[in-house]
Amino acid sequence: MFDTESGRGVGNGLRVHIVGGGPAGLIAAEMLAGRGFAVTVFERMPSPARKFLMAGRGGLNLTHTEPFPAFLRRYAQAQDLLSPAIEAFSPRRLRAWSRDLGEPTFVGSSRRVFPRSYKATPLLRAWLKRLDTLGVSFAFRHEWLGFSPQGLRFATPDGEQIVAADATLLALGGGSWPRLGSDGSWVDVLRGEGITVADLRPSNCGFTVAWSDILRKRAAGEPLKRIAVTGAGLTANGEALITETGIEGGVIYALSAALRDAIDRDGETTIHIDLQTSMSVAELAWRLERARSGQSASTTLRKIAGLSPAAALLVRESGPLPSSPAALAALIKAAPVRLTGTQPLARAISSAGGVVHAEVDDDYMLRKRPGVFVAGEMLDWEAPTGGYLLQATFATGVAAAEGIMRFLESPDQP
Ligand SMILES: Cc1cc2nc3c(=O)[nH]c(=O)nc-3n(C[C@H](O)[C@H](O)[C@H](O)COP(=O)(O)OP(=O)(O)OC[C@H]3O[C@@H](n4cnc5c(N)ncnc54)[C@H](O)[C@@H]3O)c2cc1C
Repeated sequence: MFDTESGRGVGNGLRVHIVGGGPAGLIAAEMLAGRGFAVTVFERMPSPARKFLMAGRGGLNLTHTEPFPAFLRRYAQAQDLLSPAIEAFSPRRLRAWSRDLGEPTFVGSSRRVFPRSYKATPLLRAWLKRLDTLGVSFAFRHEWLGFSPQGLRFATPDGEQIVAADATLLALGGGSWPRLGSDGSWVDVLRGEGITVADLRPSNCGFTVAWSDILRKRAAGEPLKRIAVTGAGLTANGEALITETGIEGGVIYALSAALRDAIDRDGETTIHIDLQTSMSVAELAWRLERARSGQSASTTLRKIAGLSPAAALLVRESGPLPSSPAALAALIKAAPVRLTGTQPLARAISSAGGVVHAEVDDDYMLRKRPGVFVAGEMLDWEAPTGGYLLQATFATGVAAAEGIMRFLESPDQP
């Protein structure tokens, strides 16, 4: 392609280096290579997109079908940062992209969107094939160390290398699950360049609970199904999992940003779990009232109140069971659990924090480093699970790629 006005070749010959071979980096590589740029993806691991593959283990939730204004509200304070990108590369476009790679999507429970195979592997295989056809090069086992006046510094099996590019995209991810490649080591590098980066914090994470020995022994690993959890002024319905050290799972992740902030502020916070969502307090009290006297407490909790063994143990965590049916019903409908800490970032699904909004322009280019762009989870935003993480990751990757094209195609560029 040739731009007759500027007299410059569009794409051809200009080198774009993408650091980080996760979904943000790969979608940008696809866009840029499709426009004729010479794209190399530098990745510290021996293969790309390990977290994306891990995300597909339990069902790759690509995006969500809720109405768009509600969808955007999931990004809370980061809506300003992300909305233009998500409006441009919308859930509909992400689904079309997946379909074009041979993985049409379907809408599952709670309006979440998955690829047909439910997994990430077939999608990634088709995607890498497309990138190969487009001429994208990969440099694996290249760990980005920072900038030098000559270019980007990498640690490689053959020693340190410096490579120069016409534009760079950093797509290095957050700090969760570091064994998959993203460990947040870039935070100190960018801070060293004077760029403000909000601390990486666990998001969609579990919490620590000082369970009694008996609960830990008998209920660790057990799910709590069809529960409602209220905490930090919010309520969510779903499932949780009791672990040796605390509690995690979808319903906890949904509240995790607010619970984490409450713990950071107050040192601890208490959630209340409705363990019997199919009955009101009055209905449950009535059933408990009518139960035969002389039944053991555990029979009452399991047979009359319909609780699982794990849920019954949880009701007993807060002390002796109340003798009045009304008080027992109230306890089952709002069993208190004291959260004493947030589980570490390494075990979280995603990270909060990252490069703050003020540091990037509308094209996700670092204001302090013209020609260097940022996309994906390393930007400062967080969102619940439900497909919102990948949607924003893909959308910012596409937006940064378009920013790079504008930057390189601008007649002002040397
Ligand atoms: C268990 C799990 C399940 C998930 N499930 C879902 C889901 O179903 N739906 C959803 O929306 N989201 C899900 N997520 C979150 C989603 O996977 C991430 O938000 C997404 O992968 C972020 O993409 P990214 O490209 O920004 O970063 P990443 O995917 O983390 O990719 C960054 C890449 O950069 C590389 N890198 C990092 N540092 C360096 C360096 N210094 N030098 C060179 N390379 C480097 C890393 O190795 C990595 O390959 C899940 C996450 C986890 C952990």
